Amino acid sequence: MKIGIIGTGYVGLPTGVGLAELGNTVICVDKIKEKIDALNAGKLTLYEDGLEEMFAENLKSGRLKFTTDMRQAVADADVVLLAVGTPPHPITQEADLQYIYAAASELADYLTGYTVIATKSTVPVGTGDQIEQLVRQQNPTAQFDVVSLPEFLREGFAIHDFFHPDRIVIGSNSSQALEVMQKLYQPFADKTKILCVSRRSSEAIKYASNAFLAMKIHYINEMADFCEKAGADVREVALGMGLDSRIGNRFLNAGLGFGGSCFPKDTMAMAHMARAVGAPIELIETTIIGNKKRKQRMAERVLATLKDMPHARIAIWGLAFKNGTDDCRQSPAIDIINELLDKKSDIVAYDPKAMTTARKILGDKIAYADDMYAAAKNADVLVILTEWPQFADADLTHLAKIMRRQKILDFRNMLKAEDALKLGFEYQCIGRSITLQGE
Ligand code: NAD
Repeated sequence: MKIGIIGTGYVGLPTGVGLAELGNTVICVDKIKEKIDALNAGKLTLYEDGLEEMFAENLKSGRLKFTTDMRQAVADADVVLLAVGTPPHPITQEADLQYIYAAASELADYLTGYTVIATKSTVPVGTGDQIEQLVRQQNPTAQFDVVSLPEFLREGFAIHDFFHPDRIVIGSNSSQALEVMQKLYQPFADKTKILCVSRRSSEAIKYASNAFLAMKIHYINEMADFCEKAGADVREVALGMGLDSRIGNRFLNAGLGFGGSCFPKDTMAMAHMARAVGAPIELIETTIIGNKKRKQRMAERVLATLKDMPHARIAIWGLAFKNGTDDCRQSPAIDIINELLDKKSDIVAYDPKAMTTARKILGDKIAYADDMYAAAKNADVLVILTEWPQFADADLTHLAKIMRRQKILDFRNMLKAEDALKLGFEYQCIGRSITLQGE
């Protein structure tokens, strides 16, 4: 099939590569010329495990193409996927749909034959109706259907999730559109549930799922606070909870609060949508507020360990919002660093993949180290903010030698407390009784 993808970011690019790998001809369009030039030159514009090789092969085979020309991607396409951003509106915090409407309006004139316009971007309930109206007004003779096709991939696992989705949700009442979409997803039909529902239900499924996962994270984070005070260990509690198949063991890692380009914005958009229709969802409202406060409290915990130290040096391990990606959008690490700035301390950070993206946000407000030990050298405290596996294997003996003071705040529960204590570190983690003091 011929597929056009509008928006070549964290969703559009891995999806395009995956669809090309399945044998489709895919043309990805983006309005950022440098991005398209880099991709055409064989250079990836974001980091995703397993993406590089598949990208190179499909680019070489000619099944995968990149352009800034909307016409090339849309004309003759069987399916056009909308994968542009839907960031929070700066004032109302609802989903800002300007990019999706602009893209719909740009593509309308280039439609030829029957085309399915499938919205992969996360959009509020009713957006499909608006897109349909907009395209119809602009091109009254076009033959098309607008389908909701929510994306559930996890950054860091985008390629894995493309080929092994838990489910594929298609929202449409058009049998012609469903036929096209089922053909596209035929390679998954044997092993994956393909759920066909109404367009509005499909749009709601995405927000309902993300808000639920965000609440699950916030729940275990609050449980971690309880465990710290009550003398329990949240890791053991999560293990015991997760063995219950009704609960499941995922999203039960207590930490410093959820972040990333999806959960914060999607919870806010869901809360806004619910208020707008007169059915506010208080669980989500509470989660949003609680998650924000959590990140402030984490920064306060860092400052509390430094209170008698003017001009302290703070080493940060991890800038990305989670491991496996270079994405720093709404990263809790960035939020916490922002809280720590201007507190008369020097911050030196290291992240295995996200230095470039973090630098675009933080600029020279902090220093960047070449490796994890260079960041920790002469530091008064080491704060672990992203769960990159290599941090768990840190050589603590070496760290004890190179740090000025032996303090570790492990906000991702990565290190072995006993090992840190034996070496004389003052060690704090999440959800385990009290601050553990070294000798
Ligand atoms: P992104 O910012 O990484 O990529 C969006 C791209 O669209 C950008 O490169 C931008 O230049 C391009 N673009 C915007 N308007 C355009 C236009 N008119 N023509 C051509 N290109 C245009 O965003 P993302 O993270 O890929 O997210 C896209 C959507 O998918 C959002 O709605 C998001 O909520 C949703 N989503 C994201 C994830 C995720 O993990 N990132 C997961 C599921 C769903």
